[in-house]
Amino acid sequence: MESALGLLSKIFLAVPLLAAKRMYHEARDTWNPYVGCLHDCLYCKKSFQRQVARVGRIFGCEGCIRYQPHFHPERLSRRLPRTGPGQFIFACDCGDWTFARPEWRAAVLRRIAELPDRTFLIQSKNPACFQKDSFPPNVILGTTIETNRDELGRAISKAPPPSARYAAMATLRWPRKMVTVEPIMDFDPDTLLRWVKDISPLCVYVGYDSRLTGLPEPPRAKTEAFMAAVEEAGIPVRRKLIREAQPSRPGLRG
Ligand SMILES: [Zn+2]
Repeated sequence: MESALGLLSKIFLAVPLLAAKRMYHEARDTWNPYVGCLHDCLYCKKSFQRQVARVGRIFGCEGCIRYQPHFHPERLSRRLPRTGPGQFIFACDCGDWTFARPEWRAAVLRRIAELPDRTFLIQSKNPACFQKDSFPPNVILGTTIETNRDELGRAISKAPPPSARYAAMATLRWPRKMVTVEPIMDFDPDTLLRWVKDISPLCVYVGYDSRLTGLPEPPRAKTEAFMAAVEEAGIPVRRKLIREAQPSRPGLRG
């Protein structure tokens, strides 16, 4: 029979989980004990890669300068802020989980398990890789799906195409998921909406490319209608940069 204490602790753990459902989620901090990615996404060069390289030059880290997957174990013990309901710490946001070695992932997950009163987000553009680990309950697992159109995804990135990311997320048995539609590219509303519903995330981030890479963008009205449909389905939308579509640059990659 379950002890009263055991039952109480279960209720205590369930309350923030329930409160966190159906809420906008906001990054409270970022934490990068692991850095680097080989997906080579076009829009990332101007943003994450440049930022990481700048810090890498200051600290003399060759891995950061080249954006190669590498470990910063000295960052594991860094003090991290507590997260309230709807908040999270974005773990390894300057890297993709899929390229992290098993021992690096294990070290990061051990640290996360030591901090059960903080919620962490881990993202990958190859969400099939989430099957390789056993995650503590205070983790949200997320992916980026910029469009449902595989040909557009392939034109700007070496990551698995959007349909593969969708399939992996939809079949992933995890209660706390997130989807980022950013930087948004042109899409088919019915398909993308069905994907989001099938994945059933805590919330969806939507935003246009802030770096003006020249991606094929949907008209603003189409994005607005999509966001309204997602909210109507009971899934909160977190609006990032929402603006008019800019002309795309043809032949982005080859
Ligand atoms: Zn580094």
